[in-house]
Amino acid sequence: MVPDGRGLAGVTAARIFKNGPHGPGPHMETLSTMGYQRTHSANRATTDSAATASAWASGEKFRNGEISCHDDNRDGKCEPTPAPTILELARERGKSAGLVVTSTVTHATPAAFGAHVPRRGCENEIARQYIQVTGVEVILGGGAAKFNAPKANVDACGTFGDFIAAARTRGYEVVYTKDAMEEAVSRGTKKLLGLFARNGKTPELFRVFPEEHYRVDEPTLPQMTAAALEILEKDQDGFFLLVEGSQIDWAGHDNNLPYQISETLAFDEAVKVVLDWINEEQRRKLDTLVIIAPDHETGGFAIRGARQENYKPGDLVKDAWTTKKHTAGDVVIWSQGPGSRFLGRAVDNTDLYQIMRDVLW
Ligand SMILES: [Zn+2]
Repeated sequence: MVPDGRGLAGVTAARIFKNGPHGPGPHMETLSTMGYQRTHSANRATTDSAATASAWASGEKFRNGEISCHDDNRDGKCEPTPAPTILELARERGKSAGLVVTSTVTHATPAAFGAHVPRRGCENEIARQYIQVTGVEVILGGGAAKFNAPKANVDACGTFGDFIAAARTRGYEVVYTKDAMEEAVSRGTKKLLGLFARNGKTPELFRVFPEEHYRVDEPTLPQMTAAALEILEKDQDGFFLLVEGSQIDWAGHDNNLPYQISETLAFDEAVKVVLDWINEEQRRKLDTLVIIAPDHETGGFAIRGARQENYKPGDLVKDAWTTKKHTAGDVVIWSQGPGSRFLGRAVDNTDLYQIMRDVLW
């Protein structure tokens, strides 16, 4: 589970807004193991989502912008042939896989698990690979435009096409609304492609002002997470699932505190869905590794000291930002379940791959 671009101060700000400084913490703080992670990429102290997600998915350092593909000769080809990602290894072991996000579902973080492309801008090609090459069973998020791209909207890899039709011929149900998603799940669908916006999903913030922006037919991140679990849990061999609070990062780029808090709290509700699912059965508690890991921090967000600091629930902290870009500091990881004991210390982002792989085996 990835709160994209969220530093520890972002947890504090969300906690104060929800419950006040003395109230209980968010659900993610209940996980038993905590460590922290280096985030640098192969070529930069400050990573992007592509390089960190590729490091998690493939266990090696990549350059910023690369999606589980070393484009060493800068000719738009992966060289050498990329190793299978942790998601692909899980599917080789007979497990199912899901990608659930609030950005386009072809954005850098999910892409690094389900595709191999030299540049993160190859979002049509990433859509094509999800459907025609990798066969990820559950794909939920925004990005309808990337799955049905006319020639005029060719991507950075030169790919265009109708991958929605391709998905249907491969047995996917394709849905565009919350109701259709839930109906498909209750009918027992095994392969689900849910595209709820042309590009990124509507920010959670707009649910507060529904008359202006909120599209009532879009599912939330926790609702998409629950739908994915209901499909994936039917695979007796288990599953790999990525859930990303993608727009926490976008709020950081925007230096927008209400946006950051609302996306962080929606992500935390998705964490609750996962923890509740695990707690339903003893076997799930023993067998399920959960990792909550940001890929980097965005915005250099800090909570400023103030003369008056009697914050109450519903208050916004006094915020300060050092950049509109990513920052290079280490980020905190929470985890529980098998393998999590190796995450209770300082790790590199590449270490997460080996820990997940050992649990798969
Ligand atoms: Zn970013």
